[in-house]
Amino acid sequence: MRKAKLRALLCQVGELNERELDELFDAVQKRQSATKALRVVENARWPLSCPSCHTERIVRNGRARGLQRYLCRACGRSFSALTGTALAGVHHKERLHAFAECMSRGASICDTAAELKISPSTALRLRHRFLNSITEHQPKALNGMVEVDETFFRESFKGARKLPRESRHRGKSKPKKGAPKGPSKDLIPVLVARSRGGPYVADVVLPSLSRTDIKAALAPIVGPDTLLVADGSGSIASAAKDLGITFEAVPTSYGGHVRGTYHVQTVNQYHSRLKGWINHELRGVSTKHLPKYLAWMRTFAWYQDKPKPEIYLISALGKQLINTF
Ligand SMILES: [Zn+2]
Repeated sequence: MRKAKLRALLCQVGELNERELDELFDAVQKRQSATKALRVVENARWPLSCPSCHTERIVRNGRARGLQRYLCRACGRSFSALTGTALAGVHHKERLHAFAECMSRGASICDTAAELKISPSTALRLRHRFLNSITEHQPKALNGMVEVDETFFRESFKGARKLPRESRHRGKSKPKKGAPKGPSKDLIPVLVARSRGGPYVADVVLPSLSRTDIKAALAPIVGPDTLLVADGSGSIASAAKDLGITFEAVPTSYGGHVRGTYHVQTVNQYHSRLKGWINHELRGVSTKHLPKYLAWMRTFAWYQDKPKPEIYLISALGKQLINTF
């Protein structure tokens, strides 16, 4: 806007009554929220380089839908800060910040869709764009005491058009009396490792609880000075032995999982929060999308339940903000 026009607009503010001032304030707030996400994205991506040839020989080339566009002098391509990221081609860019705000609260799809006035399917697709970019953000080579324990989620085909098995009915979900003990076939194991005294959490969906699968899951997480504490599970102990790391077992029968400073209470607390949120607040998630939701929960652990909306926007640009060193 030209300076003269802005000055004229500001002069009129003095003539507004209280109701008109409120309306103006609302309009300004809406406008600010619409551009907030785009400013966060543009600032986080700077200095920009061409996504095609990676040169920094770029010049500004006008604006489109609130975003600055650039032209590459080397290859002649035009792009913006969102080109080549998980948020490229997203409609309703003005709602991105409000959407990220819903994610920072762990809001359900229905609540998010109602708040942003978008359809639930749009909200789900957008959520998965954000979650895809953080799914692989696990810690690496954790040192010190690390509690490890497995938990289980019921296999779910939520959202699938056809079920590969008979649908479950109420009252049939619990195992019958006299049924063999141990995890049933439709339980999906998730191995959770949580470092004691740090916000590092790793959780991996496992094909099985075999020694080989646990070893493969633990290998990138543990470091040479890791002290692994688990509840005496044979497979975890064997995997720790294979990896050559110190292992302390706290058997279930051992006074409620505590032996001196060794216990698995931190990781068990994390399990109950994770399961409460996924099974009750989100009403279950599809097994194929489970790793994404585990990653979402890791953002809450890392930011002590107060993740800012901006972290989801910046992560969607390809930056790892959680489980970093
Ligand atoms: Zn280029």
